[in-house]
Amino acid sequence: MQQFFISAPLAVGGHVIFPADIERQLRRVLRVRGGETVRLIDAEGMPFLARLVLKKNGVEADCVEALQERRELSTPLILAPARIKKEKWEWMLQKATELGVSEIWPILTERVNEAEPSPNRLAREHRILQEAAEQCERHRIPYIQKTLSLEELLTVVRQRDDFFAIVLAERQEEKAPPLSEVLDSVVPEKAMVLIIGPEGGFSSTEFARFAEEKVAFAGLGPRILRAETAAILSVGMAAQLQERRARNR
Ligand code: SAM
Repeated sequence: MQQFFISAPLAVGGHVIFPADIERQLRRVLRVRGGETVRLIDAEGMPFLARLVLKKNGVEADCVEALQERRELSTPLILAPARIKKEKWEWMLQKATELGVSEIWPILTERVNEAEPSPNRLAREHRILQEAAEQCERHRIPYIQKTLSLEELLTVVRQRDDFFAIVLAERQEEKAPPLSEVLDSVVPEKAMVLIIGPEGGFSSTEFARFAEEKVAFAGLGPRILRAETAAILSVGMAAQLQERRARNR
């Protein structure tokens, strides 16, 4: 069923007049009929079923049911990846959204070659996050932060007791236990921050800074994964751990 995010609070019995972009999509792309139902997520992240009403000058909907469902992870899951090439970056944004990530914090590291994105490109990234969130029926669109330098990232995680930061580190076997073990050691209340390097990896100076700041190191096995593979594997593992903990609660 099609889902749309609405930037206002909704209630059962309420009525929605869709903005022009959603109206266009409903009429021209989806060719909907009056009476069909859609999912609406309101400004508070609350899900509703709504019945469409086609009018001459627009598309409207009646909110008919508040849905009782869980779609979001119980604790924030933050992905802090170095920017990588556009196509892979956008693929990573889409998949991380499907897996439940709450925020993306792009980071600038020594070996990042990607330029700061233009406003157009940032808008496109936001659309990718929104469409992925709609497609997988999430209640929240992940938030994409402005790019942080490595030092800004380290300052944020140092200041926040409720964050647990993990750097994914290849070829650091002696320092980096398997990610599954590191994740198991994180108390459920802590928001996890998963830090992924660029195509060229982190430099030894950067690894030394992570160690000084007591960021946990974790490995994903003996093979060198592409940055986007490492990002998605680690987000998937952290999300599955949260789902398992939620089931056992
Ligand atoms: N420069 C590195 C090299 O050629 O040896 C490869 C960097 S890798 C393509 C990009 C990022 O993915 C790394 O910085 C790390 O964060 C993550 N990564 C890749 N493979 C990993 C592994 N086996 N364990 C942990 N992290 C990994």
